[in-house]
Amino acid sequence: MAERGMNMKDIVVASTNEGKIREFREMLEPEGYRVLSLADFKDMPEIIEDGTTFAENAVIKAQSVTDRYGIMAVSDDSGLEIDAFGKEPGIHSARWLGHETPYEEKNRIILERMEGIRDRSCRYVCAIAITRPGEDPVVFEDTVECQIAMEPKGTGGFGYDPIIWYEPYQKTMAEMTKDEKNGISHRGKAVRRLEEWLHENR
Ligand code: IMP
Repeated sequence: MAERGMNMKDIVVASTNEGKIREFREMLEPEGYRVLSLADFKDMPEIIEDGTTFAENAVIKAQSVTDRYGIMAVSDDSGLEIDAFGKEPGIHSARWLGHETPYEEKNRIILERMEGIRDRSCRYVCAIAITRPGEDPVVFEDTVECQIAMEPKGTGGFGYDPIIWYEPYQKTMAEMTKDEKNGISHRGKAVRRLEEWLHENR
């Protein structure tokens, strides 16, 4: 058993996104970590995510915190790759077609651009990086293979989910329950790898 209190290790979630911080906290605290976030390091300069892959961007975010404060950090990067669009939006998923453009609109545009295209294959990718002083970064990456749906369906999830069709369940990501999505999603799978690693390395 991990000892609580005295032996707790500090880890920084390299994000200011409340939802992300909460999810990581729920996962890391039971493993004996005291979870901090960028909100606790107000003098951290803006991190420029100029990597060319999800893994690179996840490492850049966590490593910047580890390098500056000499502390363990974790971060994630995720997105949607559409094969017919040369894997775009990819690492640009959050800002693609404009950060402020509602996803309803982005999803409508994707469906429009997919008209007449046979290959509707796509995937969600998630990379999670752990960085520690003096150690190489550790990255957990996973994907879920999907199709661009013919029309939006469902109200669950977020972002591109209403137009992401998951063949084995015959529904879109937005039609799944939270547990269903977690069970098969890029993020769910990457998170479970991280959990295993944390368990083995605590
Ligand atoms: P990040 O928070 O910088 O990693 O950006 C991830 C972006 O990828 C989100 O803003 C969405 O556009 C997209 N994305 C990643 N995972 C999902 C998902 O599970 N559902 C819908 N969109 C997702």
